[in-house]
Amino acid sequence: MATSLTELAANIAAAQASKTRMSAQEISQAIQSAYDTLVQLKAAEDANQPLAEVGLTQADEKLAALQANPKRSIQQNKVFCLECGASFTVLSGKHLESHGLTAKEYRKKWQLGAKQGLASKAFSQKRRDTAHQLGLGDKLAASRKTRAAKQKGSGPKNAAEPLRETDAARVINIIREYKDGVSISRLVDRTGFNTTKVRNIVSIALKKGQLTRVARGAYKAI
Ligand SMILES: [Zn+2]
Repeated sequence: MATSLTELAANIAAAQASKTRMSAQEISQAIQSAYDTLVQLKAAEDANQPLAEVGLTQADEKLAALQANPKRSIQQNKVFCLECGASFTVLSGKHLESHGLTAKEYRKKWQLGAKQGLASKAFSQKRRDTAHQLGLGDKLAASRKTRAAKQKGSGPKNAAEPLRETDAARVINIIREYKDGVSISRLVDRTGFNTTKVRNIVSIALKKGQLTRVARGAYKAI
């Protein structure tokens, strides 16, 4: 704890003194009284002991305040039991059982939503984050699977299928028939395109890595 109990007690006494006229002795007593209360509260908190059992009026007031506004029992780093005022990270079914309640009955009694987690906000958030990460993991796994399936379908198998019959595809499909390469003049003969057109198509296909030059003026498909 960053602030000592003494400092807290002094702050409480100072707050009291700011509201009422107090003698030096009264202030001193107020500090002592606040300190004693804080020590007991701290001990009760450390022992996870129900505050109600400590028998402090402050604790009773605190519990009454929580009961008047049950949602406040769920705090950032702890959750208070609205039956006895004990604080926990998670309000367990086992503890509620000691009050003769199930979690469902407890939520209903204190008008907490049916989905309200009976745990500190930080704990619930962490649980949500974990669930989210797990959910994300599932999605990633699913998308990897889909991608793998797609690659299987459109990968090497499809590469050997004829390209859409554009002029370029027509040239390349013909080149594919010649495992040892084919000359430009043969391609001109086969396609009926002029030499310039065939050269242009071959040149682009070379750049795209679809063809390779096997000899001067002869090409084959990759
Ligand atoms: Zn309790």
